[in-house]
Amino acid sequence: MNDLQKEFLDIVAEVRAHLEYQRALGVKYVEIPPLDDQKPIIQPAALSLPKEKAVAAPAASPVVKETAKTVEAGQPATLESIREEIGDCTRCKLHKGRNSIVYGEGDPKATIVFVGEGPGFEEDQQGRPFVGAAGQLLTDIIEKGMKIRRAEVYICNIVKCRPPNNRNPEPDEVEACIGFVKKQIVAINPRVIVTLGNVPTQNLLGTKQGITRMRGTWQEYNGIPVMPTFHPSYLLRSPGEKKWVWIDIKKVMERLGIAVPAKE
Ligand code: URA
Repeated sequence: MNDLQKEFLDIVAEVRAHLEYQRALGVKYVEIPPLDDQKPIIQPAALSLPKEKAVAAPAASPVVKETAKTVEAGQPATLESIREEIGDCTRCKLHKGRNSIVYGEGDPKATIVFVGEGPGFEEDQQGRPFVGAAGQLLTDIIEKGMKIRRAEVYICNIVKCRPPNNRNPEPDEVEACIGFVKKQIVAINPRVIVTLGNVPTQNLLGTKQGITRMRGTWQEYNGIPVMPTFHPSYLLRSPGEKKWVWIDIKKVMERLGIAVPAKE
């Protein structure tokens, strides 16, 4: 087999893997524009950032990226429809102790999605992600560090109900819930995902590697670049580690064309 044939087979395998993934999400068919349609298949992700700051989208699988939003009834899954699907969820045992389902919040067309672990006490009380002490630190990273408004990004978690005593979510709880965050990511179609700590990093990327090794290294989830970094709760316990998060966040800013201050 020559190189060209091998490359073709690699592309076919990659497209197949993406389509299998979409099928697992419930996508029943994809729309492919006619070949003579000169319009680009991917529209640049709607940016909340000033236009001149935008850089070219990272390479992805165009057909799947654009059609990922086409679902069963021919309608794109929206954040609202995914929330409706969750309903008054009893899919795992976490529902027994919850006060509220913490779905996620932010710009539905966000360029950046931050994924945490699961709601804590304050989040469970308010029904909003990252509103406790760790949330304040995350907000500072976004607003003071990246100089963008929190409302311009999207923030969500791997599990949507609070694990008792803020323990890590257990595998059956993650399994029951992770499909929803995956669907949220498809609906938002961000240009970068930032995973906060071990739980989202390992579960989204399907790895057992720890965050200390993974942080600061570009990964990929379904064609979307992923930057793993430390969880803000860890930074509250170990403030000396904040410098690493800033290094990671600067990589995200550079990738998105957001001006990074010359000196911090
Ligand atoms: N920690 C998380 O992982 N998520 C939240 O929403 C709050 C704290």
